[in-house]
Amino acid sequence: MKKKAARPVTKTVKKTQKTTPLPSKTSSKAHNNWLSRYELNCAVPHLAFPVISTASNLAVISSLTQLENTQWWTPEKIREMQFKQLYQLVQHSQKTVPFYKDYPKADSPEHLAEIWQEYPVLARGDINANQTTLTSGKLLKAHGSVTTKYTSGSTGQPIGVKNTALSGVFWRAFTLRDHIWHQRNPDWKLGHIRISKTGQAVYPGVTGHGWSSERGANALIRTGPTAGLNINTPVEQQGKWLLDNDPDFLITFPSIIHRLAQHFLDKGLKANRLRQIETISEIMTEETRAICRKAFGIELVDLYSTRELGYLALQCPEHPHYHVQSEGVFLEVVNDDGSPCLPGQPGKVLVTPLHNFAMPLIRYAVGDYAVLGPPCACGRGLPVLERILGRERNRLRHPDGSYRWISISATDNGKLLAIAPIQEYQIIQNSLTELEFRIAVPEDPAPDQIRQLQEWARSALHFPATITIIAQRRLERSANGKLELFKSLID
Ligand SMILES: [Zn+2]
Repeated sequence: MKKKAARPVTKTVKKTQKTTPLPSKTSSKAHNNWLSRYELNCAVPHLAFPVISTASNLAVISSLTQLENTQWWTPEKIREMQFKQLYQLVQHSQKTVPFYKDYPKADSPEHLAEIWQEYPVLARGDINANQTTLTSGKLLKAHGSVTTKYTSGSTGQPIGVKNTALSGVFWRAFTLRDHIWHQRNPDWKLGHIRISKTGQAVYPGVTGHGWSSERGANALIRTGPTAGLNINTPVEQQGKWLLDNDPDFLITFPSIIHRLAQHFLDKGLKANRLRQIETISEIMTEETRAICRKAFGIELVDLYSTRELGYLALQCPEHPHYHVQSEGVFLEVVNDDGSPCLPGQPGKVLVTPLHNFAMPLIRYAVGDYAVLGPPCACGRGLPVLERILGRERNRLRHPDGSYRWISISATDNGKLLAIAPIQEYQIIQNSLTELEFRIAVPEDPAPDQIRQLQEWARSALHFPATITIIAQRRLERSANGKLELFKSLID
């Protein structure tokens, strides 16, 4: 429905620009006229109207204007255009990147689409092992300067991916698309509880102005004040920080907002202005969505991105699933044998960033598992990711070698809280028969509670293991600030 309604508007605007009124600010199609919601910063002195942005901001505006249309293309058209771009990337790679020299050659974008699955999967370990041979010998000046982005791998060992300034242009365009999709008012006060260096943004936090890291005229649009807090702050102080700063919009990790929501419910607290929460970095669960609905009366917005690859998927403006950001990445979900998964079937996520010509990553296995969904009713042609499941190590291994993803029901979470006031928990699988159940609680549980917690874990996981309870005041987060609900240490 929306697709049909959206397309003529764009076309009419192009043909009869002066006579056709654009949708009003309050229209549900306001994202077709994204500029009407935002005030651009001016880079030229003495210019008040109309303003002119910096060159890099003009590039962002140009990309975003196209993204506003391409989201409504059919899946076939999007795929066709992706292969035109992939063809450019693969040709460049075969000529200038030693690692891809012997990959099968395609003589057209259509031919590339046919042979695509003959290309091997690039494993995480391949990147560090082939830093030099994966780097292009011909740097494209027009793509801007090259920098290396580091990210911690599954072993905690960082990997480095080289990328150009061009990726920053697309990154910013997708950031703004996310604001547009979720109708954020640029005047909102933004709060964030994120990773900070040790000793930085500690309670009572830091404040500033403008949501983006770009400052002054370098920031594309004018945005409201900000308040930030270090992710390692205890939950009581996070709660106080939230009440004192009273943001309209909060960005944080799922495990942080889950714990904070529980804290607000326990203490009967209310966030006055909070209108939207966006989660990043960890796996979102239905339980976290449910507890935030209860504590804050808000539907969570989640996003899927990685430092080394950019935005992979944004939550649909109308549904709790995600749309792949196909203008930036070619994303596949495949079985262990490399064949494509059908919608509904969990599989490995492979990502090919479309615009990284400095260190092209072709069919890179990010390490996550996900489930594709059927086309979205919102009308966008961007593929749907129904769920993001997490990493291989987030699967429970059975003694017969099979595995499954852990999902704890809302009822089971309720039962757990009836046993003890647990703020956070994590389950570690040490062997095929032993699990460690780590809990963050205000005081150590009594022997009877320990027995009940062990029974709870066996029943909630449907797994007859020996359970060791480890009670702590706070759970240890990994170096990247993440807390995994379930982690298997079995190879
Ligand atoms: Zn949608």
